[in-house]
Amino acid sequence: MTIVQGSRGGFAALDTCVHCGFCLQSCPTFLATGDEADSPRGRIELMRALERGELAPSDPYVQTHLDRCLGCRGCEPVCPSGVGYGHGLEEARALLAQTRRLPWTARFALALFTTPGLNRVVYAFARLFRATGIPRMLAGWGRMGFAMGMLASTAPDRRTGGRPVGKAVRPRSASPAVRPSVLLFRGCIMDGLFGHVHDATIRTLEVNGYEVREVPGQVCCGALHVHAGLRDPAAVLARRNAEAFGDGDTPIVVNSAGCGAMLKEQFGARVRDVTELLAERGPVPGAPVDTRVAYDPPCHLLHAQRIADPPLALFRAIPVLQLASTPDAAQCCGSAGIFSLLQPGMSRAVLAPKIASLREAAPAIVATGNPGCLMQLGAGLRAAGLAASARHPVEVLDDSYRAAGFYA
Ligand code: SF4
Ligand code: SF4
Repeated sequence: MTIVQGSRGGFAALDTCVHCGFCLQSCPTFLATGDEADSPRGRIELMRALERGELAPSDPYVQTHLDRCLGCRGCEPVCPSGVGYGHGLEEARALLAQTRRLPWTARFALALFTTPGLNRVVYAFARLFRATGIPRMLAGWGRMGFAMGMLASTAPDRRTGGRPVGKAVRPRSASPAVRPSVLLFRGCIMDGLFGHVHDATIRTLEVNGYEVREVPGQVCCGALHVHAGLRDPAAVLARRNAEAFGDGDTPIVVNSAGCGAMLKEQFGARVRDVTELLAERGPVPGAPVDTRVAYDPPCHLLHAQRIADPPLALFRAIPVLQLASTPDAAQCCGSAGIFSLLQPGMSRAVLAPKIASLREAAPAIVATGNPGCLMQLGAGLRAAGLAASARHPVEVLDDSYRAAGFYA
């Protein structure tokens, strides 16, 4: 599942770095601290020294600066030498994980959110608690307040979500002779807390002529484990998903950028982001939605999967909708899996300029296609007292299709 390049693993992907420094200004942690060791170039030097044995994985300096990396891969597209930073980081983190235990908070969170069976109970309690409205009331900037804001941000938008909606009725213009089948990847957090996004995914794909099929036996993609350096449990999950999805060629549709990037390592081009599939069909235009949307691309969609235009095609299919642009949209929001839990100070420092830009742009919706980003941006918007809500792009298209009368 992990790209292995000879016996050196992911470290080989760092070889082409020529220290030019073009990546520095695209690194959110370097912009936050100004410390070379918090930049891609500085971390590459640390990783090279780790590989050569000149620095030990137990060295606190190495651990501090590699732990502070978001793994956002914002440094990759701007690198003229094609350095595969993400693969080097994965290798380095696996090395670090051999010499220390993850903090108990990280192990606890991973177990609760991703263990099949256990996570169903956890998510059921979380949804019940969310429904009380208490998380929304307690949302704020403090550690507990931010966690509450994150949970509150997983709720369906009250203006349209949460209401039962029928199956999609395809408009005549979109009825192809053959309806290609796609297999829905449900994931862990997406399935537990963002069921309304899965519903919108299914409906919008059906309007665009796809037949969406469920796949029993699938589990978490393991991305959170790999980012934490835990390759063995990730490999166990990958084997289970390989059994569940089989080795056919039916596309696997994913609506979480982090899961999509991870699954592409395992299943290759068979994995498609929902926005890619929709954009291939136009998508079918919906009814006007008079709202202002700021699109904030998830790092694992824009940088890791290099998917830039398809989400914008969804907004172009909605008449009247206005797109607001923000100068730092392409930079990480500071979520990065469980990073916001492990490095709350850095996570908020990275989020702060983005929230300031959004305050200026004044959208009604901040759209992003990843659960961690939806929670991080949603919590930040609430804590900052902004009225905008964080929503997945397919939810916005779904609103437009509902207004167009496409659903029974
Ligand atoms: S990673 Fe790329 S952009 Fe950054 S210093 Fe190395 S060669 Fe230059
Ligand atoms: S992955 Fe993100 S945080 Fe880490 S070095 Fe690259 S740009 Fe900086």
